[in-house]
Order: sequence, then C-alpha cells, then structure tokens
Amino acid sequence: MADYPTHIQIEPHIHMIRGANDARFPEANTLLIDDEILTLVDAGSHPDQVFSTLRDLGHQPEDLERIILTHYHADHKGYAAYLRSISECEVLCHPLAKEGVESFQAMMKFIGINNLETKEHWLNLLQARLPHVQEDYIVDSTFLDDKPIDCGEIQLIPLHSPGHTHDHTCFGINGLEKVLLVDIDLTEFGPWYGNTVSDIMDFKKSIEYIIDLQPKMGISSHLLDPVTENLAEKLKWYLEFFQKRDEEILHYITAGINTISKLAQIPIIYPRIPHPAYFIFEELMLEKHLELLSKNDLVILHDGQFQVLRA
Ligand SMILES: [Zn+2]
Repeated sequence: MADYPTHIQIEPHIHMIRGANDARFPEANTLLIDDEILTLVDAGSHPDQVFSTLRDLGHQPEDLERIILTHYHADHKGYAAYLRSISECEVLCHPLAKEGVESFQAMMKFIGINNLETKEHWLNLLQARLPHVQEDYIVDSTFLDDKPIDCGEIQLIPLHSPGHTHDHTCFGINGLEKVLLVDIDLTEFGPWYGNTVSDIMDFKKSIEYIIDLQPKMGISSHLLDPVTENLAEKLKWYLEFFQKRDEEILHYITAGINTISKLAQIPIIYPRIPHPAYFIFEELMLEKHLELLSKNDLVILHDGQFQVLRA
C-alpha cells in the first residue's frame, strides 16, 4: 500500500481516492461521490484503494452504482470493467469518448497507433502495466456538456475541455468553485497532447476557459493534493509550457536538429523516453508544434528538414 492516506475528503460527500505510485501514470486519482447515487468519477486508482475507501465510508465494493469517465485514456477508464463486474454499476462518458472507451481498436486509433512496430511496443507496454484495459467495454449512457449530473446533494457539471484529447471533460462540483481538472493536471511534466485526437490550440483554449471560471480549488488526476493556493498562477504557468516548447524546438532546429525523429531523440517534451512505446507520443507532440510553427511562418519544411524562418 502507498505510504500516504488512501483518500481525503474534499467536502461533505466528496472524497478523492488517490492513485497508487503517487498517482502517476498508469495510475490516476478518482473521485468518490458518497451520495444518494454512489458514484465514482474515473476508475484509474488501483481497486485496493477504491475498496478500502468504500469500506472506510461504510460501503462494500458491490454498492457502487455509477462510474463517470472523464475521457477514454487507459489510466482513467482504468478498472471500470472490473469494478462493474463486481457491482453491476452503470458507466457513463462523454459522447465523444464512447467509441474509445468501448473498443480497444478505437482506442488504438485515437492514440494514433498506425504501424506494426509501434503497435508491438504499445501492446508490450499494456501487457506489462495495463493488462486490465484490453477488454472491450459497454458504456450505458452518455452525459451532455454543461448538463448537471445529479448525485443527490452533489451536482457534477460536465465542462467539455478538449485538447488533451477530443473528449476530455473537467467537472464542476456543485458549481464552479471546485473543479476536477483531470488531465489539465498541473504536474511538472506540463500539458500532454500526444494522441492523434489531441490538439494544442484546443488545449490552450480549455486552460484559458478554466482560468476564466476562476475556480478556488482544482483537483488534478495526477497530483496527490487538490490545488487551492495560487491556482490561477499555476494554470497560467501550465499554459506557458506550449510557448516554452516552441522556443526549445526552434532552438534545436537552428542548431541543426531539424527532423521530427532527431528532435524526438533528444527528447524535447519528455524529460526522457521511459519506454520505446512513448516515442510515438513525443513525435506526435512535436508534429503538432511544427504544424503550428509552419502555419505561423516560423519554420519551413524543405527536403524533409525544418528550417527556422524567424525565431
Ligand atoms: Zn489522459
């Protein structure tokens, strides 16, 4: 078990179940809404963490009535199939998430796995670290943007916030003062947008949208504690990553590291590539930066090599 308390109360009825391993991928935090409808938001924390939290609050694993998924990623849909096999709970997601949540093949397509070598790396990684997400799921129903999901005392307000993925959804908790930020995760890594269905411009807009809401508490899926101090500044700091990465890419291209595969070898976005399967994410993120840099006439692609037009 982790060397920190498994769950903390956010407010009456709301508990954050912390992921194992400091909630780092492939773990993530989940929210338990201990209300008229016993609801879990995401299912990426290890079942031991979920079960011990349920028991601490006087419930049994089979009492779980509903799982709401924030997006199709494996560290968020996580153990939903397993938890449902125990509790027969219903599973809800955003309409755009449905395909990726339900079908393993669709998940691979959304990620952007389109050649055999990457597929093999990815399957090895899944087998080693996420064996529980390879089964197909059934989603019972979908929620609508901005239409509150009634848990009893607690209303969850879906805030569709694409960019990280196309289906990524934050949630306001009884209003907009407390927001589940999901993978606008405020980690030192910075924003992650390494799938085919990720989009830098959408991600920036989504962060700006959350800043405009002026929440007082932000709950990240990958930080052990909710952020309450200097939340606006932290969101702005997180938003600046895009610009910093642009600058770094321009710097390396000027130094002659002028193809995506060479840039990925450095790497630019990951501090290091933890597994060969991650190269695709680094390359996809670089590709998205270079697409925008080209569009803004800052770089040009010439004979398969990038050149800086103006820094
Ligand atoms: Zn994610």
